[in-house]
Formats: sequence, structure tokens, C-alpha cells
Amino acid sequence: MTSAERLQTVCEACGKALYARYDLPLARKELDRDAFAKRPSTIWRWREFLPVRDVAKVVTLGEGGTPLISVPRLGKTLKCSRLSIKDESGNPMGSFKSRGVSTSVSRALEFGTKVLVIPTAGNIGGAVAAYAARAGMPVHVFVPNGAPEINRLEAHVSNAEVHPVEGTSVDAARMAREYAAANGYYQLPTLQEPYRVEGKKTMGYEIAQDLQWELPDAIIYPVAGGTGFVGLWKAFEELEALGWIGSRRPRMYAVQPTGCAPIVRAVEQGTAYAKPWANPHTIANGLLVSEAFGDYQILETIRASNGHAVAVTDEQLLQALLLTRRTEGLMLCPEGALTVAAVPELIKTGHLNRDETIILFNTASGLKYIEALRLVAKMRASS
Ligand SMILES: *Cc1c(COP(=O)(O)O)cnc(C)c1O
Repeated sequence: MTSAERLQTVCEACGKALYARYDLPLARKELDRDAFAKRPSTIWRWREFLPVRDVAKVVTLGEGGTPLISVPRLGKTLKCSRLSIKDESGNPMGSFKSRGVSTSVSRALEFGTKVLVIPTAGNIGGAVAAYAARAGMPVHVFVPNGAPEINRLEAHVSNAEVHPVEGTSVDAARMAREYAAANGYYQLPTLQEPYRVEGKKTMGYEIAQDLQWELPDAIIYPVAGGTGFVGLWKAFEELEALGWIGSRRPRMYAVQPTGCAPIVRAVEQGTAYAKPWANPHTIANGLLVSEAFGDYQILETIRASNGHAVAVTDEQLLQALLLTRRTEGLMLCPEGALTVAAVPELIKTGHLNRDETIILFNTASGLKYIEALRLVAKMRASS
């Protein structure tokens, strides 16, 4: 078995993603699920199931503990009676990336890591920069030139060294990898170290707790690298091993924009891996991942849960963003708006029933996306 006593990256034998394992049978005997509600509501509420041993090394900005918001007015418009949104917009740096970055940076600090490296095309770079600043660690962020200005700026002001990359996110990932290797620095790309997914999985713990240890019928999630999607599934497996929930699972639905939908295409073609997407484009820039390191696990989760994957257009997601703002006052990010736009599609194709318990994920604050906001404002003006 791979050691938990040193900093890990990927599996040395197969080069694929590694996952943290806990002594859940022991935890089952010793821990009471109802005691957790009394702890502060950050991801560290679940510290026994997070990969940091020394609590003094925890790097936190108060991430997690986000609300599950019932959206009856939106539900009425979409003709769904039990619709809620897990709203991640209140996280530090305005996105759910901070959950996983908190665990990754904490674990790196615990093992004495000196310098971090991260490629980013969206929210991850700014989050790593913020937590690195909090930990007093230098960080190098590799940003493709097409990335939104906000994501470059947020990293820059947190004292990160920002390296502009002429090219795509794939080029940025390659340059970050080479730079880290050449200098002996630790890099944290999606699913290429086992700690980020651990922070992300706490969304699953929170949902289970909020629903009195029952899971919803369906989860709709905007998938890029898949840490959240795969992390939710991991959380449900752990919760069952703990005896805190039964064996019933939600169906897991992945949503992607039509301009970058490698997972949707793989589901349609029934393949175990996803081919890289050529010329990715969408306003939901957090989903501009043309090839996911954990594609096979995203696809496995969809299959195992009896779920599906669906693509929606930028036009549809902007309409959904406006609709959610108008009916519920919630300022979704474009990625979160994809999940709203997916609901009618999944009902049409018979995947969702109108009276099921459905949870959508809003993964970031819409306030970080001024371009989408401009387009939505124009839509409102002309409607
Ligand atoms: C990164 C990101 C996603 C995709 O997250 P994964 O869990 O890596 O698939 C979705 N929405 C936003 C806003 C993001 O920043």
C-alpha cells in the first residue's frame, strides 16, 4: 500500500490518481454522526476524514459550511417540486476551489513543502495563491493568456508569481509541470495529488447532514476536472462505510457546455475514457478542460450511479442565470447556471422526474464573471 507518511502525487505503479483511505471501521465504532453538528461549520468539521494529522498545520480561511438553499420559485418555473441549490458562492475567493485547496496546502505544509506550483485557467490559481499566502509559502501560477483577467489579478495580489503562458490550459499545465520538475517544487494539478479531492468531498458530507442523513434522488453538477463529482461519490461511500447513511445513492448527472463537452461525448459513445476536446470555448471558463486526468473516474461514477451527462449551450446557461437571479435572487456563476439549464433537458429525456429531490451545484460567485453579467443584462434589456 502507498504510504500516508509522505507527500504523494500520483500512483507510482500506474500513473493514475491516488486516493486517501481512512480507518472507517474504527471511526464507525468511535464517532457519533450527530456530534459533528456542534463543531464549527468549515470543511474541518470533518477533520477525522481529511488527510492532515497535525491540526496546527491546517491552513483555513473558513471554507465550506455553505447553505443548501431550497428554490421553490425557480422550481415552479421548471415544474420541479423539490429543487435545491448547494450554493458555494460564499467560499473564500468566491469559489468552491477553496475547499480542496485548503486540504492540499495544509498537507503540503505538514510535510514541509517550501514552494508551490499550479497551472490555472480559472479559479484554482487565485485560491492556491490565497492559501499559500496564508501559509507563508511562495507560489508560481501559470496562466494562459486567454484566461479571465480576474483570475490573473486575484493570484497577483496574493503575492503569487504569475507566469503568463502563450497558449491553452494544456500548455500552461505542461509548463507548470516542467517548471516544478526543474526546480524541485510541488505542483497541485487536478487529481494529480490526492488531497484536493478530500476537501471537495466535504460537500457530500454537508449534503447528507443537511438532509438528515438521506441523500437526494439526483445531483446535477458542472464537471471539468471532476474533483467535486468524484469527491461526492467518495464521500457517499465513506458515509455508508461509517454506517451514517444507507446504500441508496443519488443518480449523478454531469453537465458541460456544448463548446467543451468531452465527458458528454464519451457517455454518448459509451467509452471508458474521454478523447480530448478540440478548440474548447464557453463563457463558463471554469469548464474549459479539454482533457481530464480523471476522465475514467467521472465516467465510472456516472455509470455506477445510473446517471447521465448532458451538454447545454452558452445561450441556455445565460438564460438560466437570468432566470435564477429573477426568481430567487441568487447570483449563480455561469458554471452553476449550466446545472439549471440541464434540468429541462434531463426531464425531456426522461432522466429526471419532476417530483424528485434534486440538488444543483452553484460552484462559484457570479460576481467574479463580469462578462457573463454584461451579456445577461443585455438579455434582460431585450426581453
Ligand atoms: C473548477 C470549477 C468547476 C469544475 O470543478 P471540478 O470539480 O474540477 O470538475 C466548476 N465550476 C467552477 C466555478 C470552477 O471553478
